[in-house]
Amino acid sequence: MATAKQLYQLQEIDLDIDSRKATLSSIESQLGESEGVLEAQRRIEDKRARLKQLGALQRDEEWEAQAIQSKAGPVEKKLYGGTVRNPRELSDMQDELNQLKAQQRKHEDVILELMSQAEDLQREIEGDLDGLRRMEADWYQEQERLFRERDRIRAELSTLEETRAARAAAIDAESLALYESLRLTKQGAAVAKAERGMCQGCRISLSMNELRKAKSPQELVHCGSCGRILYVS
Ligand SMILES: [Zn+2]
Repeated sequence: MATAKQLYQLQEIDLDIDSRKATLSSIESQLGESEGVLEAQRRIEDKRARLKQLGALQRDEEWEAQAIQSKAGPVEKKLYGGTVRNPRELSDMQDELNQLKAQQRKHEDVILELMSQAEDLQREIEGDLDGLRRMEADWYQEQERLFRERDRIRAELSTLEETRAARAAAIDAESLALYESLRLTKQGAAVAKAERGMCQGCRISLSMNELRKAKSPQELVHCGSCGRILYVS
């Protein structure tokens, strides 16, 4: 027959093991890729794609401006070349030239606007990259810390498991089975201290008879209210 003290000491170890296991699983859930970093990388990729689009639009505009330039050049040459003297014809040529120049200015305005958008976007991307690098460095540092923490807790757990095995080996099978089944139904606390006349598991007062019996090492006494094994230290 095990004493309440033995079971209480076993429970102390088990609660320690429980809390380390909870910490371990929380650490493991934080290991791996960072949502924030992935999101920042996606945003930068989107902006780079947009920058590429702006570049393509700019090249289209330049090409069109160039085409107009190659039409306007000969008209201008002819207009000022002195070979055409007919005022009507000269006036038509002037109109054509004005029209072409107006078209060209429109394209040039668009090109300037696209260039300015591209510059802004490039600056934004550089800022985002700085932010991403900082985020990655922080993430890396945090992951390192978590790995170290995980290794430390794993080592502690293995020591605790050894101590637990030694303590459990000294307890008879029947008491151990009772303890285990109570732990399942009592949120891990099968044994409760009896202090100041109360069961510390359910905070309900114990009768003199319960207290007296709980002090005796001869039997395991259960709290009349919550059913936990009582331990008087
Ligand atoms: Zn109780």
